[in-house]
Amino acid sequence: MQVSDIRQRLRALGALPLHEERVLRRWALAQPQEGGRQRLDAFLPKPLLQALPGIVAELDGLARVASAHPAADGSARLLVALADGQTVETVLLPPDRAQAVCISSQVGCAVGCVFCMTGQGGLLRQMGSAEIVAQVVLARQQLGPARALRKVVFMGMGEPAHNLDAVLEAIQLLGTAGGIAHKQLVLSTVGDPRVFERLAALGTGDVKPALALSLHTSKAGLRDELLPRAPRFAPQDLVDAGEVYARASGYPIQYQWALIDGVNDGDDEVDGIARLLAGRYALMNLIPYNAVAELPYRRPAAERAAEMARALHRRGVLTKLRQSAGQDVEAGCGQLRARQLPVGAAQPLHWRPVAPG
Ligand code: SF4
Repeated sequence: MQVSDIRQRLRALGALPLHEERVLRRWALAQPQEGGRQRLDAFLPKPLLQALPGIVAELDGLARVASAHPAADGSARLLVALADGQTVETVLLPPDRAQAVCISSQVGCAVGCVFCMTGQGGLLRQMGSAEIVAQVVLARQQLGPARALRKVVFMGMGEPAHNLDAVLEAIQLLGTAGGIAHKQLVLSTVGDPRVFERLAALGTGDVKPALALSLHTSKAGLRDELLPRAPRFAPQDLVDAGEVYARASGYPIQYQWALIDGVNDGDDEVDGIARLLAGRYALMNLIPYNAVAELPYRRPAAERAAEMARALHRRGVLTKLRQSAGQDVEAGCGQLRARQLPVGAAQPLHWRPVAPG
């Protein structure tokens, strides 16, 4: 289901824009429809009022938490069951100054990055924009009213560029009725010309997300091997396109680099990153690889990762060495996948974040 389908349904029931926005806002904020200042029966058109319980039930059924897997760092991996029985994973990131959730945009992924478990099973199906937003609603329900969700990153399962209409529709709702600041909506992509075209075409009323680009190597040939079905986009061209959006949006591009032992952690890559990114409006995130039993890749030694970050800083590249959240519960980058629903998973497990610090 797409957000536009919900809008059409509401309009067919007599909703004016203010009614439509109210229903969508309370849904996206995980608030009950009957709350708020206005009494529903005095505010909504009668046909909509009568149909509302059915619509709410349908929205609730879009995505449910089948199981929650809390990690030692305070994050949690949520196995989310969609209405047709497919599953995706959503990660509540550790409580921090800006509570964030990492959401999925597809069931599976066609890009097939060789180091990523999501990519191993291929694409199972697209997600609708309403299913994408529903993960944020679930996150808010899990966090409860005491802890506000401030940031949504599209870095879970799937390549957002391959489901771009739905992703941009979800971003539009989350950045308006959904109450998330535009720069706290982070669209992550391997780099697809269509993304740059669509972002460049956004108008004044449109929500402009921040952009994360998965670079992983400065070498075009190696990138084709690591990301076998990503668009053929030479690293230099990718960075040039990213720079144009960074300058236009006012947000730096966040480059993602899964740091893999013996693959992309050499001094030649330090030279390559410095050549590509020095002087750019950009932030490099080095993410030591999260090993999974099924794949042969390993993370480099901690000292090597730290030395790369220091070397990049010295060469003028703003660099952060990041540890993926929830590695102990397979919630880290590259560890998510479409999993079987646990038997008897009808009852959601509720999780509460531990206090920061
Ligand atoms: S890393 Fe991202 S783009 Fe690559 S296979 Fe995994 S989900 Fe798809």
